[in-house]
Amino acid sequence: MDRIKRDYVFHRDLKKDYPIITHGEGVYLFDENGKKYLDACSGAVAANLGHGVASIGDAMAEQAKKAAFVHTMRFETNVLHELAETIGKMAPDHLNKVYFTTGGSEANESALKLARQFHRDAGRPQKHIVIGRWQSYHGNTIGSLSAGGDVKRRHAYTPNLLNYAHVYSPYCHRCPYGRQKDDCLAKENLTCLTDIERTILELGPENVSAFIAEPIVGSQQGAVPPPPGYFEKVRELCDRYEIVLIIDEVMTGFGRTGTNFATEQIGIEPDIITFGKGVSAGYAPLAGMIVHDRIINGLIQNSDGKFIHGYTYSGHPVAVAAGLAAMHVYDRDRVLENVNEQGPYLVDRLLELKQKHSYISDIRGRGLLIGMELVRDCEHDQLFDPSEKAAETLNGIAMELGAVFYPGTGSIDGIKGEHLIISPPLNVTKEEIDEMVNILDRAFTIFK
Ligand code: PLP
Repeated sequence: MDRIKRDYVFHRDLKKDYPIITHGEGVYLFDENGKKYLDACSGAVAANLGHGVASIGDAMAEQAKKAAFVHTMRFETNVLHELAETIGKMAPDHLNKVYFTTGGSEANESALKLARQFHRDAGRPQKHIVIGRWQSYHGNTIGSLSAGGDVKRRHAYTPNLLNYAHVYSPYCHRCPYGRQKDDCLAKENLTCLTDIERTILELGPENVSAFIAEPIVGSQQGAVPPPPGYFEKVRELCDRYEIVLIIDEVMTGFGRTGTNFATEQIGIEPDIITFGKGVSAGYAPLAGMIVHDRIINGLIQNSDGKFIHGYTYSGHPVAVAAGLAAMHVYDRDRVLENVNEQGPYLVDRLLELKQKHSYISDIRGRGLLIGMELVRDCEHDQLFDPSEKAAETLNGIAMELGAVFYPGTGSIDGIKGEHLIISPPLNVTKEEIDEMVNILDRAFTIFK
């Protein structure tokens, strides 16, 4: 059995072996040797209800026994409609239609294509360029990779990525534009905003199709919320230049940041919200987009109601049943309330660690999506070189000690921050937070 496993899986790193997980329960995962890991990052910020939730597994099994697959070009299912309605009602007022995919990359790919078709069919065929942000991740397919800023993953495909443009997203702790936080905010003249308008004008507004952003930057910088007013201004610019505003909530959606969608906190209505991960709490590959009535009406008027796109597994009944069952658990267990109770507690505990360890230069985030910037020496603001893989090393030590976090490296010039994301399942308890913080504390002590 062991030989088969090692020889046949084409893993993303062929030189590494990882622990074999046999089962999970709540915030814990157990490997084949009985070792227990506290999942302090919900896998990839996906297992938002923890492991082993029987009601979700049961709902999937039941649906699989009834009708495991129907093709959405020919048939529909009740679970599909029920989940779409639940999500549509959670979203901002004018975002009502829900389109399903199997992962976040596909969700963003679909949104980028929808923006393009929307413009084309409305008589604006020139609008084809997407503006993304360097500190962002939108997925691994060519379109979503082109829109995102993961330099390492983009590198292999340069120069054949799509012709998209990028600006820096706000990072006031270490401004990529070299501004001082107080100076910038006091003047209400954020360079990260003026650069968006400059970029639109340079490209020619008639060429720009969409602007895409995570409301709180996730894996590329470690849970960085925007400064007040940033997204209102982005919305204004998109309105002024007829640009579709896509907010990528793949990581932030379904309560992760303390509201159903982080969009509620940034106070705007995007044209498209993409989602993934938390929608099924990791129980099935499920993601999608929620689309503003304005775009849907455009499609009805100009495209004969047809979105020229589609996947075999869109709205897969078993995945959708998992999503619906997950929604019941979020509701039944008052998960959102727990996020708002445990989030501040987690931050307080991490601030205690910051007092103790000079490697921590910043703690930030919202709800239970918390980031920690790591530096060699906080007092002298000495950064790690990305080649040192400091966050990865720290996480390796933590795993030895029995907890797993989400490490990351900012690979962009001028903002090379190493970071760790701490994002436990949303039903985590105070005791479990204490346990994960204590493990992290010990990991920092061992870390050199
Ligand atoms: N968008 C964001 C914000 C993400 O964090 C991710 C994955 O980490 C994606 C998109 C891509 O999602 P997936 O890996 O499901 O394709």
